[in-house]
Amino acid sequence: MDVRSQNLPDPDRRVGNRISKLSEDQIGYHKVLSLKQDGKPVQYEVVGTILEVNLTSPIQPNSKTTFEMTFESQVPVQIRRSGRDNAEGISYSMAQWYPKMCEYDYQGWHANPYIGREFYGVWGDFDVTIAIDKDYVVAATGYLQNPAEIGHGYEEEGMNVKQKGKKLKWHFVAPNVHDFLWAADPDYTHDKLEREDGLVLHFFYQKNDNTEDAWSRLPKVMDKAFDYINEHFGQYPYKQYSFIQGGDGGMEYPMATLITGERSFPSLVGVSVHELMHSWYQMILGTNESLYAWMDEGFTSYASGEVSNFLKKEGLLPGRVSERPHAGSTIGFANFAKSGIEEPLSTHADHFQTNSAYGTGSYTKGRLFLSQLGYIIGEKALAQTLLDYFETWKFKHPNSNDFVRMAEKASGLELDWYREYMVNTTHMIDYSIKSVSKSGNGTEIALSKDGVMPMPVDVVVTYKNGKKELFNIPLRIMRGNKPAENADMPQKVLEDWPWTHPEYSFNLPVEPNEIEKVEIDPTIRMVDVNRDNNVYPKP
Ligand SMILES: [Zn+2]
Repeated sequence: MDVRSQNLPDPDRRVGNRISKLSEDQIGYHKVLSLKQDGKPVQYEVVGTILEVNLTSPIQPNSKTTFEMTFESQVPVQIRRSGRDNAEGISYSMAQWYPKMCEYDYQGWHANPYIGREFYGVWGDFDVTIAIDKDYVVAATGYLQNPAEIGHGYEEEGMNVKQKGKKLKWHFVAPNVHDFLWAADPDYTHDKLEREDGLVLHFFYQKNDNTEDAWSRLPKVMDKAFDYINEHFGQYPYKQYSFIQGGDGGMEYPMATLITGERSFPSLVGVSVHELMHSWYQMILGTNESLYAWMDEGFTSYASGEVSNFLKKEGLLPGRVSERPHAGSTIGFANFAKSGIEEPLSTHADHFQTNSAYGTGSYTKGRLFLSQLGYIIGEKALAQTLLDYFETWKFKHPNSNDFVRMAEKASGLELDWYREYMVNTTHMIDYSIKSVSKSGNGTEIALSKDGVMPMPVDVVVTYKNGKKELFNIPLRIMRGNKPAENADMPQKVLEDWPWTHPEYSFNLPVEPNEIEKVEIDPTIRMVDVNRDNNVYPKP
């Protein structure tokens, strides 16, 4: 992690070269003291951040084996994500605090050395007991089993709490999760909100002038957010979720997130919504986030944009409600794509050559993968795709083909070309209006495909009489077209456009002087890298 950080042209500022400067009592480590398989010692070796183990006997399919490990660790001063004494004074942010099983799946082993980017893990049932000085309030993945011995806000109303000894033993169980997070601080305020459906939301923060206002308003907003998310992205399957002040920004974990807490209200809601949405794409669907970072960060970013827009509509979040909440990302990404440092989404998260290419690819292009899919197949089919995808693939580690197949089934269209171009290449999209000219008694509109990546094209014609008409030109290899999306604007489906052909034209039964404006994709959902040539007359 240290060497990788020091060799990136644009390292994360939270890391930089800080690890190399840590003293012996500040650096983090795990020392494995013993490891047994079914009671017998096994050979092992620590290689970087990976523990290589030679099993005494191989694990056959549908069989069981038990490992017992003792390990000793030092909690580092916080550099990235986990550690002690974060910038806001939270004592313990405990992520990556135990040796975690690597995933072995249909592609083989994924023993990725930890360099600070994404994760991939194995689901399991966790049973964790934490013994800690009794003044500490502990927040964690999982359900506390012994609230009557703990208190600290976990007790139910009227419960008689009996704390014993200088240390309390916090007993948590977490079913079907692929990681376990905890955090502890003696000054946590612990608020709870039980939703109508029984889900309990927990909020842990240090109450002060920089936190009190925003954190006291957060529960109501997240309650509403859950309603919207369950309806649009699939039902949250656990009984608990915790928003925990800690860490170094925002990081997702099962049933919980660690977020820095001294933020404005909109910023606190923004990061809370983003990290919460990871429960759907990383925790429950569990795509291999290292191989397909865009399917986690990107889909999470898409969903966060939708949820934030909903919260604005409900008056729960300040800001303008947008009809196109992803248009800003579309424009931003188009500029990045032209910078020349973009790498294909098929790049393993750890191996992007710059943080910028990793970030913009995973978060922004991944987000646009969905918003642009809405343009191609229609928003209704996209919404159906997201629900079907969640229901079909939860707890199964889907890959990009699994997702695109759900979109094909929801839309009835062929979309392999979309995945190939978007994931495996950095080819750009650029359609333009070549000419609008008189032809017989009407007008010919000539279009040109100037980029390599093909797309179906929406052309909106505005007439001088104020009428608008949408012309949809399907891409031939889609084998069909999206249904009309907008009841206020009739959609005319034109002859399809073969991807091999750079030019295309169609005719309108009106004179050119009756036309006010012709525009390709006024909804700004197609990631066209050059929008100036999308409009006639030229702006
Ligand atoms: Zn994220």
